[in-house]
Amino acid sequence: MARIVCSCGTVLSNSLSPNDIQLRVYTDKEWEKVFDCESIQPWQIPLPKYEVWRCPMCKSIYVYENGNNQPIMTYRLENK
Ligand SMILES: [Zn+2]
Repeated sequence: MARIVCSCGTVLSNSLSPNDIQLRVYTDKEWEKVFDCESIQPWQIPLPKYEVWRCPMCKSIYVYENGNNQPIMTYRLENK
C-alpha cells in the first residue's frame, strides 16, 4: 500500500520517507514488550501492529491491519 484517496479528495501517500501521513501508534502493552530486554537499538524496534494513516487536510484517520488494502477502522472529526 502506498497511496489512497481520502474521502475529502486528498491523495495520501507514504512514498516520502519520512512523511506526515503515517503515524506510528503502539499500545502501551506493545511498547512495554519492545523494551522488555536489556537494551535495544532504534533499528530493532518493530513496526506497530496497526498501520495508521492521517489525512493532513480533514484529519481523518485510517487504520490498517496485516497489509490489507481496506481499513479495518476509519475515524472522522465530528466537528471541523
Ligand atoms: Zn481527508
